[in-house]
Amino acid sequence: MAAACRAGGGGTAVNPARLWHFHGGLKLDARTARAAAAPIGAVPLPPRLVLPLSQHVGQPAEPAVSPGERVLKGQPIARPNGYVGAKVHASSSGTVVEIAPHPVPHPSGLSAPCIVIETDGLDEPWTGYEPITDFTALTGPELRARVRAAGVVGLGGAAFPTAVKLGAGSGLKRLILNGAECEPYICCDELLLRERAAEVLTGAQVLLQALDIARCVVAIEDDKPAAQAALEAAIRAAGDARIEVVAVPAIYPEGGERQLIKVLTGEEVPARGVPPDIGYLCQNVGTAAAVARAVTRGEPLISRIVTVTGDGVAAPRNLEVRLGTPVAALVEACGGYTGQAAHLLMGGAMMGFPLADDSLPVIKATNCIVAASREEVRPRAPVMPCIRCGECAEVCPAQLLPQQLYWHARSDDLEPLDDYHLFDCIECGCCDLACPSQIPLTQYFRYAKTELWARQRDRARSDIARERFEARRERLDAEQQARKKRLEEKARAADEARGDEQARKAMIDAALERVQARRGSDRDDSPGSGA
Ligand code: SF4
Ligand code: SF4
Repeated sequence: MAAACRAGGGGTAVNPARLWHFHGGLKLDARTARAAAAPIGAVPLPPRLVLPLSQHVGQPAEPAVSPGERVLKGQPIARPNGYVGAKVHASSSGTVVEIAPHPVPHPSGLSAPCIVIETDGLDEPWTGYEPITDFTALTGPELRARVRAAGVVGLGGAAFPTAVKLGAGSGLKRLILNGAECEPYICCDELLLRERAAEVLTGAQVLLQALDIARCVVAIEDDKPAAQAALEAAIRAAGDARIEVVAVPAIYPEGGERQLIKVLTGEEVPARGVPPDIGYLCQNVGTAAAVARAVTRGEPLISRIVTVTGDGVAAPRNLEVRLGTPVAALVEACGGYTGQAAHLLMGGAMMGFPLADDSLPVIKATNCIVAASREEVRPRAPVMPCIRCGECAEVCPAQLLPQQLYWHARSDDLEPLDDYHLFDCIECGCCDLACPSQIPLTQYFRYAKTELWARQRDRARSDIARERFEARRERLDAEQQARKKRLEEKARAADEARGDEQARKAMIDAALERVQARRGSDRDDSPGSGA
C-alpha cells in the first residue's frame, strides 16, 4: 500500500489511505535522476519548423494557409477536419515555404503532409486570441470552445483532442489528473509539477468548471515527493479544497488510465468502454497546464516539455520545445551526442519507437527522446519457441492472454483476436520483458492491430461500394419500371384513341348510311317515281 499525502478536503470516493492494485505490471528501475536534476531548459528557434497536419488522434487537419504566405506565432495554420480533430498553429513567425509530405515521427516510418515554415527570427505573435481574467464566468461549452481553438490534445502521449474528451457527458463523479509517468526515462510531468504547479492547478480548476465535476484527484508517483509538495503548496495557497494529491506506487504501466483508475478507485473500466462509462475523466497533468494557458491567456498549443535523455546525450534534461523543431536541435541543446549514442527513440524505453534520424520534428505527442547506448537497449537474444509458461499473462495489466494472441497473430489467423480482446492491449511491452523465450510479442500485437484496422477499412470501403452499387441498381430498376409504365400508358392511350377513332368512323358511316337511305326513300316517294 502506498504512502499517501493530501491537500484539500475529504469525503471522497477516492480514499488515499486505501489504494488498489491493477493486475500485473512491473517494477522498473527509474532512469530519470540526471534529466530530473536540471531545470526546464529552452531550445533556440530553428530556421525551419515542420508541422505535420496529423499530430492527434482523428482525421488530419486541413491547411488554412498557402505556400508563400507570412504567418505569425500562434496563428492557426490548419483547421480540424471533422469532430475528432485539432487545429495546428504556427510555432513562430515566418513564411510558409511548402505544404507537402515529409517524414514524421511514427512507428510506421512513413511520410505525411506537413506545413513547413521558414522562421524569420522575429517571433512576432498573432493577436487573434483574447486572454480572460475570470474563467469562472464562462460556461462549459464556452470553455470547450477555447480549448478547441487552441488545438489542445492529450500530452501524455495519446494526443486525443481534449475538447472532444470534454464532451464526455454530464454526471461524472471525478476528474483524475494523471501525473504518474512510470516509464523509466520520462520525467517531463515531474518537472512541470515542480516548476509550474500553479498552472496545473488552474488547469484542474478549469476542467472542473468545464465538466461540472465537484472533485479532482491528482495522482503522482510516490518516488516524486518534490512534485507532490509543489502541487500541494499551490493547492494550499489557492485554498481549493476540491483538489487533492494522491501518491501512488511507481509500478509500470500505472500511467495507463485504466490502470490508474483501478489503483485509485478499485473500479474497472469495462472492456471496449471508456472511463466516463463509470463516471471518471482522466487528463494528463501536462494537458491540464495547456488547458489553463489556452483558457486564461488564449495561448494555443505551440510548444511542450520534452525529456531528452539516455547515455547517448551529454547533459540529459527537460526542454520547452516549439512543435516542429527537429530532434537534432534538442540534442544540441543538451550538449550534443556522446560517443555512446547508438539508438534514437521517441516516447520512452518501453512504449517508444525508433526514429530513423534526428531530422524528424517534435510533435504534440512527443514526451521523450532517448538517445540510448547499446547497453541501455536490451540486446535481442534469438527467439525461442513459446514454452507456455504463462509469464506473459502474469504481467499483463490488461489481463489478456498474450500467448494466445501471439499464436493467432503468428499464424495470421487474425479474426479470432477480437475475441481475445486484442484491442484492449495497451502495447506496454510488459509481456516482452517477461517472456523467457524472447518473443517480441508487442510487435506481433501492433502488426495484428494494424492489419485488422486495414481489413476493417477495406471492409467498410467495400460495404460502401456495395451499397452504392445496390442503390444504383435500384435506381436503374425503378427507371426501367417507370419507362415501361410510361410506354404501357402510351400504348393504352393509343389503343383508346384508335378505338375512339373507329367508333367515330362507324358513327359517321352509320350517319352516312342513314342519310343515303333517307335520300333513297325520298327519291322513291317523289311524283313520277313509279312507286
Ligand atoms: S511468456 Fe513467452 S514463452 Fe511464456 S507463455 Fe508467454 S509467450 Fe510463451
Ligand atoms: S503489450 Fe499488451 S498483451 Fe503485452 S502485457 Fe502489455 S497490454 Fe498485455
